[in-house]
Amino acid sequence: MAKFNPNDNQCSFCGQNIGRDKILLKGLQGASICEDCLKNGNLILQDFLNEEEKKEQKSFTENFKLIKPHEIKEKLDEYVIGQDEAKKVIAVAVYNHYKRIKSATKVADDSVEIEKSNIIMIGDTGTGKTLLAKTIAKMLDVPFCIADATVFTQAGYVGEDVESILTRLLQAADYNVKKAERGIVFIDEIDKVARKGAENPSITRDVAGEGVQQSLLKLLEGSLVNVPPQGGRKHPEQKFIEVNTQNILFIGSGAFNSMDKIIAERMNTHVIGYKADNKVFDKNNVMKYVSAQDLKTFGLIPELCGRFPVVTHLDALDKTALKRILTEPKNALIKQYIKLLQLDGITLKFDESAIDYIVDKAVELKLGARGLRSIVEQIMTNLMYDAPSSKKKNISITIDYAKEQFDKSIYSDME
Ligand code: ADP
Repeated sequence: MAKFNPNDNQCSFCGQNIGRDKILLKGLQGASICEDCLKNGNLILQDFLNEEEKKEQKSFTENFKLIKPHEIKEKLDEYVIGQDEAKKVIAVAVYNHYKRIKSATKVADDSVEIEKSNIIMIGDTGTGKTLLAKTIAKMLDVPFCIADATVFTQAGYVGEDVESILTRLLQAADYNVKKAERGIVFIDEIDKVARKGAENPSITRDVAGEGVQQSLLKLLEGSLVNVPPQGGRKHPEQKFIEVNTQNILFIGSGAFNSMDKIIAERMNTHVIGYKADNKVFDKNNVMKYVSAQDLKTFGLIPELCGRFPVVTHLDALDKTALKRILTEPKNALIKQYIKLLQLDGITLKFDESAIDYIVDKAVELKLGARGLRSIVEQIMTNLMYDAPSSKKKNISITIDYAKEQFDKSIYSDME
């Protein structure tokens, strides 16, 4: 390649001679580019990127398969046992959310703006909150990430910045920003950032918790956020990726202990205050009446409650539900073990009484369905170690075998 004269004050693109009043950038090979050409180049690049963005949105609008609420619920039923009410509420919210994004470019009349339907799920640990969110994201084929609200702190404190939630989403989208901007973010333990003692103003206000809520609010408001590509804390010298959170669906999740009392109190006041109102108030299942107002009483700041218009709850899992979880879903634990040994040419069977035993132990451990896996693993480890080398081609898990293995495990001490 011919070398340009480095002393030349001529722009290699437009040929202009550049005086001292203008910028002339010189490259390694001696080629130079003037300020005007840089500006023109930038305009062309912006046009190109806008065009790419439009194409991406068009392709999404044309190709994204919107799944109707009934279908979403049916699909969820394959993986998640029970929780019908939550499934319905979430199916509608998710359908509306993606319908809203898909129609964004089609609707010329934007006099009616459809609000985003971020969701809060309330329920004990191991009741299927994460599983529901994960299954929906997989069904829709959108990026999904899980963030734990307890690791976030107010700016200036030690801990992770809230923006790093979006780093995980970007990673899940292979750093395709447009794709990430349509993803789902699951914020676990969101109840832990509530103001302590919100019901009792005499208790000192928990300022740090409120700070995290304010930072979360910024993400949820649908704004442009500077995201550190590697997560962690922000460094001024780091290059940020700009992410628009307008179409990201946020699902908050938590146990919200003693929420039932807050609801019951509100409902009682309501029932006494409005005696004419004859609505039957189901005292045994107060969680089904949960509303944004209760979240506020619990200690979430009103602005944050406003950003979660959909609130639903998941039921505690009883023995029947746990037994179904163990045996029925497409990827039920028992089915997985049977399949694993089938690949070794072994037929595995679980006696009904052994399954009941596992369920009883899970109830005792109070870990919801999460306990099932740990218990089954304790019972199955030795067998999974020996079976592939053994000549036995038919194996039954009896209650006696289950008991014997469980008693040897660490969990037996926790009873
Ligand atoms: P949570 O988020 O409510 O604490 P998870 O969704 O993480 O609970 O549940 C933990 C595990 O327990 C799941 O991976 C799944 O295997 C099982 N599980 C929990 N609830 C259900 C359910 N309703 N149906 C099927 N499996 C469930």
